[in-house]
Amino acid sequence: MAINLFENALKQFNKAASVMNLDTGLRKILSHPQRELTVNFPVRMDDGSTEVFTGYRVQHSFARGPAKGGIRYHQNVTLDEVKALAFWMTWKCAVVGIPYGGGKGGVTVDPSKLSMGELERLSRRFFSEIQIIIGEDKDIPAPDVNTNAQIMAWFMDTYSMNMGHSVLGIVTGKPLDVGGSLGRPEATGRGVRVVAEEAANYVGMDPSKATYAVQGFGNVGSYAAKIIKDEVGGKIIAVSDVSGAIYNPEGLCIDDIIKYKDENKGLIEGYPKAEKISNEDLLSLDVDILIPAALENAITVENANDVKAKIIVEGANGPVTPEAEEILLGKSCFLVPDFLANAGGVTVSYFEWVQGLQHYFWRLEDVRTALHRIMKDAFSSVAKTKNKYETDMRTAAYVDAIEKVATATKLRGIYP
Ligand code: NAD
Repeated sequence: MAINLFENALKQFNKAASVMNLDTGLRKILSHPQRELTVNFPVRMDDGSTEVFTGYRVQHSFARGPAKGGIRYHQNVTLDEVKALAFWMTWKCAVVGIPYGGGKGGVTVDPSKLSMGELERLSRRFFSEIQIIIGEDKDIPAPDVNTNAQIMAWFMDTYSMNMGHSVLGIVTGKPLDVGGSLGRPEATGRGVRVVAEEAANYVGMDPSKATYAVQGFGNVGSYAAKIIKDEVGGKIIAVSDVSGAIYNPEGLCIDDIIKYKDENKGLIEGYPKAEKISNEDLLSLDVDILIPAALENAITVENANDVKAKIIVEGANGPVTPEAEEILLGKSCFLVPDFLANAGGVTVSYFEWVQGLQHYFWRLEDVRTALHRIMKDAFSSVAKTKNKYETDMRTAAYVDAIEKVATATKLRGIYP
């Protein structure tokens, strides 16, 4: 992670704030997280020794509802990083219109060095430490880098033990058996599919006849590819993962590749029914829609000039650098920014929270229908803002999101 991640986040915010001529007071308020909590806490290790770990929970804004955002475990976690991630969560939730502010948490730890018992004790103690500021009406954590459904089940249990009753709404990303939602695993990929289709319609392209290339065949990329092929039509002509890319100009059979990957240690390497190409080749294919869904900084000044796609849908977080985006926009490429394109995940997390609060669980088709509507409406609203301010989609998405948070902040006023 870059050292001044929060400063970079503020730069994006300030650009949009200037475009929309945001009031100076609101600019000051929204440039600061409302709360930052740092905790140093002991964990009993398996060998009988004691270690002290540092963790954080940052809540950027409560203007539109409780804070929402994941908790990550990584040796490089810093307060600065968690602040930036909480800040971005505010805009992600606002752009899709779900009633949350942004939050994020993290523990500075390399979890691969912990035993299962140590991981559980660390998770339970960390969650107890941040309990003073979280709650199902205050701040609802979720998984992030190196945290998963099991850890969410421990979080939920720890909080519930302290409260004396089960509190399903305290975290999302839980296993189905303890209050998880149907449709959560596919949610981000499904959201990518909705905005890809909307983007094609917006630029006058028929999404059912378009060609697609997907970089990254993990959770986001594989579901996006499968759902686009099954429900939109069009041809997925290339997909890739860390082992390389595969290509078939006639269209790939995504179900067959998912099956192959599941039987091949999670990799598409060696898939026999397609031509092997490099990841760089995939990014420069002559496709209608390119979906980078792997890592940040996939498209930089080095390769942006080679990109031929007419539409880019950022499935991953930060796959296109700001300098590369300038080049792409100069070539009239239509780019759907990450915090709109991949907001399907947090949207279904919101559904999980709603279901947990009501103790009433939805059918898969209800989750899908509600997600589709939210993503479609969000795209349409950002596209209108783009036209109103004659700007690009990323700036428009920021303007849209900031407008919602700023309006709520203004309406609520300054207490006391
Ligand atoms: P994942 O670990 O399931 O999949 C990542 C995929 O990228 C894997 O197939 C991996 O092999 C591939 N990959 C890694 N390096 C690559 C490279 N150099 N070239 C090509 N492929 C490469 O992760 P994910 O959950 O699918 O997340 C992908 C991105 O989407 C991340 O930026 C993540 O932050 C973002 N995101 C995910 C979600 C979610 O719900 N999973 C939500 C919002 C944003």
